[in-house]
Amino acid sequence: MTRRITLTLSICLINLIATAQQLHFTVSMEQPANHYFHVELRCSAIKDTATDFKMPVWTPGYYQRMDYAKNVEHFTVKNAAGDTIPWHMSAGNTWHISHQKQAAFTISYDVKTVRLFVGTPYIDEERAFIRPAGVFIHPAGRINLPATVQIKPYTGWNNVATGLDSVPGRSFTYTASNFDVLYDSPFLIGNLEELPAFTVRGISHRFIGYELGDFDRQAFMNDLKKIITTATDLIGDIPYKHYTFLSISPRGMGGIEQLNSTAISFSGESQNDTASRIRALNFLAHEYFHHYNVKRIRPIELGPFDYDNGSRTNQLWVSEGLSVYYEYLIVKRAGLSTEEDLLNAFTGNIKAFEKGIGKRYQSLQQASYETWSDGPFGRKDDKENKTISYYDKGPVVGMLFDFTIRQKTNNKKSLDDVMRTLYKEYYQKKQRGFTEEELRQVITKIAGDPLTELFDYVYTTKELDYTKYLGYAGLSMDTSTYKITRLPNPTSLQKKIVSSWLGE
Ligand SMILES: [Zn+2]
Repeated sequence: MTRRITLTLSICLINLIATAQQLHFTVSMEQPANHYFHVELRCSAIKDTATDFKMPVWTPGYYQRMDYAKNVEHFTVKNAAGDTIPWHMSAGNTWHISHQKQAAFTISYDVKTVRLFVGTPYIDEERAFIRPAGVFIHPAGRINLPATVQIKPYTGWNNVATGLDSVPGRSFTYTASNFDVLYDSPFLIGNLEELPAFTVRGISHRFIGYELGDFDRQAFMNDLKKIITTATDLIGDIPYKHYTFLSISPRGMGGIEQLNSTAISFSGESQNDTASRIRALNFLAHEYFHHYNVKRIRPIELGPFDYDNGSRTNQLWVSEGLSVYYEYLIVKRAGLSTEEDLLNAFTGNIKAFEKGIGKRYQSLQQASYETWSDGPFGRKDDKENKTISYYDKGPVVGMLFDFTIRQKTNNKKSLDDVMRTLYKEYYQKKQRGFTEEELRQVITKIAGDPLTELFDYVYTTKELDYTKYLGYAGLSMDTSTYKITRLPNPTSLQKKIVSSWLGE
């Protein structure tokens, strides 16, 4: 894929040239059927006489230990004369290399790939997917160094798609201003299809994938544009220069978010019937909204990342739970689903949460923190599942917060104001994440009330009072089916709340 050459690209290049220490990766894939990438890293002018090179043990967005380094084989280091340089592993993800000061040397290794999944690198005869945390190593303590990456696609493959900016005049060569950016920028390689791109607020949005299936491409991209327009209107700002959906496989619905891209599994065939179409649009809205909620509106623990140990936070219920909440609302407000679809989605989450015994044992905060040991959807191997999923309780509690803020402010404020304030105050002004206390302060200020009981729903296993909180929006829930419907004879405030919530 070619990219527009912008002024910013040239600035990046100048920065790179001006930097003494240089790191240039080449990734080749000569035998895709063997499922291996070959990586070469040319280093020059590296300070000191020994360097630890590290591979992350996880990738941000997927809160599980992946131990990517265990798939690295045939690690060798050579100096400029071609002589082998000694190295040893000083930790499970660390290669200690002794070298001459300011010397140039080349590290090469193979990465064995085992699983077609958005959280792992993968290659077969059909396409290659580079999950960067599982392919690229970095000099320890120097995450801020820039790097370039040249991709050498397998013979006959014509396309490389990534959120990184390309280096003009060099084929399939990309630049990352530091390793956080590189680890945040997956690559999809193969003979790919690009759907008709669109712009929102003058910014280009692309959808590139492999084996997308039989569906109405233009209608789908029109829907996606409505989703992105609705999401960006909600926050009021687009912080990236371009955005790319990378669809790696038609099977499954996994997704991992990045700052200006998302890697997903997606089949266009989902667009051919109403229920699966809405599920898929919700999923895409979720992954897209994450570029705000978690990448920029983020818990303080989620950046800078601890690539060696993982970054634990009590607030994934915000990052994940509220992204589920907003996926439903964005698709509804974009005019792509009905009120019934929206309420049914909440019924699904309430049912999943209320029917499990985990609700008596684990709070939302605990589910957030313990996901590293419990797994992405809670523990599955207990005799009785004493965990909950923040993907279920998170959006439900989000809805209760939203209705309460609207009720306390005569519908002048909502959870949308909370998201906008977090974006402005912490991402734009302070350029950092927020603490639990700061989130409480923002909500308290906007609601004009500390909303103590709602925070109890986050920090304890207190039973949720659906009657009271759904009532604020003129809604009620049937306690046997969990079905949510409108109350007869709503007050004018209830009517106002529900219709502005729905985006009517
Ligand atoms: Zn998510």
